[in-house]
Amino acid sequence: MTLTLPRRLAAPAPGWTTRADVVVVGSGIAGLTVALEARKAGRVLLVTKTRLDAGSTAWAQGGIAAALDPEDSPEQHLADTLVAGAGLCDATAVRALVTEGPRRVRELVALGAAFELAPDGTIALTREGGHLRHRIAHAGGDATGREIQRALLEALREVHDDPSIEVVEHALVIDVLTAADGRACGVTLHVIGEGARDGVGAALGRALVLATGGLGQVYASTTNPPVATGDGMAAALRAGAELADLEFVQFHPTVLWLGRAAKGQQPLISEAVRGEGAVLRDVEGRRFMAGRHELADLAPRDVVAKGVVTAMHETGAEHVWLDARHLGAAFLAERFPGIVASCRSYGFDPATDLVPVAPAQHYASGGVRTDLSGRTAVPGLYACGEVSCTGVHGANRLASNSLLEGLVYGHRIALDIADEDLPRQAEPVERAGPAGLLAPDARLFVQGAMTAGAGVLRTGESLATAESRLARLAEERRSRDPTTEAWATTNLHQVGAVLARHAALREETRGGHWREDHPERDDEHWLGHLVAHLDASGGLLTDYRRLPVTARGDR
Ligand SMILES: Cc1cc2nc3c(=O)[nH]c(=O)nc-3n(C[C@H](O)[C@H](O)[C@H](O)COP(=O)(O)OP(=O)(O)OC[C@H]3O[C@@H](n4cnc5c(N)ncnc54)[C@H](O)[C@@H]3O)c2cc1C
Repeated sequence: MTLTLPRRLAAPAPGWTTRADVVVVGSGIAGLTVALEARKAGRVLLVTKTRLDAGSTAWAQGGIAAALDPEDSPEQHLADTLVAGAGLCDATAVRALVTEGPRRVRELVALGAAFELAPDGTIALTREGGHLRHRIAHAGGDATGREIQRALLEALREVHDDPSIEVVEHALVIDVLTAADGRACGVTLHVIGEGARDGVGAALGRALVLATGGLGQVYASTTNPPVATGDGMAAALRAGAELADLEFVQFHPTVLWLGRAAKGQQPLISEAVRGEGAVLRDVEGRRFMAGRHELADLAPRDVVAKGVVTAMHETGAEHVWLDARHLGAAFLAERFPGIVASCRSYGFDPATDLVPVAPAQHYASGGVRTDLSGRTAVPGLYACGEVSCTGVHGANRLASNSLLEGLVYGHRIALDIADEDLPRQAEPVERAGPAGLLAPDARLFVQGAMTAGAGVLRTGESLATAESRLARLAEERRSRDPTTEAWATTNLHQVGAVLARHAALREETRGGHWREDHPERDDEHWLGHLVAHLDASGGLLTDYRRLPVTARGDR
């Protein structure tokens, strides 16, 4: 089945143009790191869809991983990351992450990020699932992301008067602009505001960095904030870049279950709560993880998510319980202030109540394929953070490696831009291939198709149904009315279509991809990456790139 996707989103022609040396899209850890560093190389324009702190970064609870303890080493961090990635990590990319990580985290501290400290004044480090050493720096109990976002925004405010950096909020990027030779040369964007830069315009740049975060809103329920609609992945695909490893989705096992009708971003209950001793029970009170894995409730995230879904199927319930009552009110309030407050706001007190939880989408391990400098297949276009696929996560992200990836690879991109003689500003040309748009009311159908067919547990049949529902939507729900909702819906549809295609093709179980009909890992046929791109007329093409034996990640 050939699915044809738009090569451009239908949108009004730009009514104004602005120029910079480097255009950075997104203001999470990745975008802010690039912008603050790249201004040393030229004039930076940073644009972001809504408010500066609206991305996933501010929601991160657990922490940021780095080998900071003298007992730890980058080699050990590398080894743990490769195990989690289940054979598909790029070991060179991981090596860059773990060796440069400690320095980048210390720079973040120098910038003002206040991590919790040990009695001797060094950064206090905890452990999370999959890490064999204490290496997770954290802040505010369970508010690490908020502190990192605060520190980076404070650094941005300090350069407020610097003419080498300009920031525009409420600026939604629609498409990547390309020149006649295919090079990326800017973006079209819709700015909500007053004055000369309202409506649709063009921001031209000699280098373009996408740092637009993840795709969580492709599913009916997710821990990701509303801005995570896969815009950067879809825009890069339309511009000629490649999307890799999209089938590897991390579902978090313990997300507060707020009823069948709850949609969109749902409150996360960190696995650190289980790390402190909370346990999972099915609705009949049984501890179902005990017989499933030697680490029981602290088994790897994907194993727990599958255990939860199986327990739900077995009992016919829509959730399981998280039992933290024995940890005590005082301990819970001190160690997890944010989580306790969030649960209480929905009427559950973890100190006295069983808390209903179910899995929800949490993290995209794949994304826009890049090299070690963040360059994509489109010259001039970089990608960084959750939108990208640098190769560090393979089939499954190791907990707390994602903030680190944004920091390390954001820095690498800024260095690459500084080292390169940026070319002259190229003029955009209209890209060949179809323009298109889906009606906003298709959004719920995309989310429904993806949740039912490409969720935690997948089969060939469920994925074929998801793919045909998405193909039908592309035919039946076309729209001519360019709105922010229609752009977002079209992006969700495109990213969902690639994800479902990859998940259908990969007939094995590995990392964040669980096929009930192919329950084993199959290195003979599937030790490699699925990579998608569009042909000139928007046809979705997928290559399978087998790894050379020497590059295999976990051996
Ligand atoms: C609840 C939760 C807990 C987490 N806990 C941890 C943790 O403990 N440790 C860890 O390492 N990771 C954690 N993660 C993952 C981590 O937070 C993210 O992977 C990381 O913050 C991504 O950073 P980013 O800069 O790539 O994207 P984001 O922080 O998501 O930023 C993306 C930016 O792009 C903007 N944007 C999006 N689309 C457009 C557009 N079309 N035009 C303009 N701007 C756009 C957004 O508004 C936003 O500013 C967690 C995630 C969630 C949701």
